[in-house]
Amino acid sequence: MAEFTMELNDEQREVRDWLHGFAADVIRPAAAEWDEREETPWPVIQEAAKVGIYSLDFYAQQYFDPTGLGIPMAMEELFWGDAGIALSIVGTGLAAVGVLANGTEEQIGTWIPQMYGDQNDVKVAAFCSSEPDAGSDVASMRTRAVYDETKDEWVINGTKTWATNGGIANVHVVVAVVDPELGSKGHASFIVPPGTPGLAQGQKFKKHGIRASHTAEVILDNVRVPGSCLLGGKEKLDERLARARERAKAGGGERVKNAAMATFEASRPAVGAMAVGTARAAYEVALDYAKTREQFGRPIIDNQGVAFQLADMRTQIDAARLLVWRASWMAVNGKPFTAAEGSMSKLFASETAKKVTAQAIQILGGNGYTREYPVERMHRDAAIYTIFEGTSEIQRLVIARTLSGMPLR
Ligand SMILES: Cc1cc2nc3c(=O)[nH]c(=O)nc-3n(C[C@H](O)[C@H](O)[C@H](O)COP(=O)(O)OP(=O)(O)OC[C@H]3O[C@@H](n4cnc5c(N)ncnc54)[C@H](O)[C@@H]3O)c2cc1C
Repeated sequence: MAEFTMELNDEQREVRDWLHGFAADVIRPAAAEWDEREETPWPVIQEAAKVGIYSLDFYAQQYFDPTGLGIPMAMEELFWGDAGIALSIVGTGLAAVGVLANGTEEQIGTWIPQMYGDQNDVKVAAFCSSEPDAGSDVASMRTRAVYDETKDEWVINGTKTWATNGGIANVHVVVAVVDPELGSKGHASFIVPPGTPGLAQGQKFKKHGIRASHTAEVILDNVRVPGSCLLGGKEKLDERLARARERAKAGGGERVKNAAMATFEASRPAVGAMAVGTARAAYEVALDYAKTREQFGRPIIDNQGVAFQLADMRTQIDAARLLVWRASWMAVNGKPFTAAEGSMSKLFASETAKKVTAQAIQILGGNGYTREYPVERMHRDAAIYTIFEGTSEIQRLVIARTLSGMPLR
């Protein structure tokens, strides 16, 4: 087990500086354009693929960094560049993690390369769990997968919503109900391969922020996928369902009714790190502006009212990063989240990003309120962190119930 450290080693510093260079030279200059276009920034993803940032290898390297700092450091730098573009670059990772976590070696080897494509023909992937009536309450999911034994195929029907890269993805990972009696224990994940008939993009959402990231509904109408597309395989699923039924019979299998699942603890610090990146970006713009903008014959930072705001912003960003790094170190080293430290880090970092970006607008005055300066976009972007991967209310629910020992239901 690696000791918790707050200091990046030489190798990590090198990776951070390289990512920062990409974020500053490629992502940030493209941010306003793709925000206005509200389209996936394919040329930027391709650039990221060329230099090796858009690849499973890169994320795997960061993920398995025993200090736990690899992923948060990478997320912070990319999202410092721009949140919408960075999500377009890392969004495929959501689906890839779904396959890595539940798939067999063969499934991992077959599907993950198809999620990323190659630098000449980049592809993206989508992870489709949320539904119109199943957001925070994942157990209310209705998309149904039924096994057709005669053909060894699964038939999937339902509507997914809010899917990042939904409909434009080469590979979709779809979570569906295989046993409605078991609530979220009766869910399973499926690969929907490229070009499968019956999968279509529904509405593409016009969003408040992260507008360079494509978000859409995904309609599944009698989608047939081979048995080999069930992640983990049928034997493992049958064993898992049998265990869940046994527990339900014994009275211990109560319906887990929301997204407040302990399994999310390990992935939430990564979202916290994205929020830290956006917050830091806005803080830096505000700090520079406050040092150069003069009113009443002196830089506005000479006013305590402005300087103290910046002091609070920086303090909160550093505190958020520390919570994120701690939780990420705990996740990598298998430490139990006895106080829901993963949720804690995401809650604090995302609320900090919202607050700090609003303060940045205030410090820039009228300029902050325009699209001539990036803090307006950063503030719109920051709002997503308190919503996806579990809302702030759900984080509080998880933390409170973990502390009180109440069941997550
Ligand atoms: C841009 C974007 C990208 C996304 N990407 C993906 C993706 O790639 N894949 C995917 O599957 N999903 C994705 N999501 C979905 C996201 O995870 C959900 O939006 C989120 O889980 C909240 O669900 P909901 O929108 O249905 O809100 P609801 O669950 O309807 O919540 C509405 C409000 O009620 C509150 N609330 C709900 N239950 C409780 C409770 N028990 N106690 C207190 N308050 C409560 C919530 O906190 C929130 O404030 C994305 C969403 C967005 C906006």
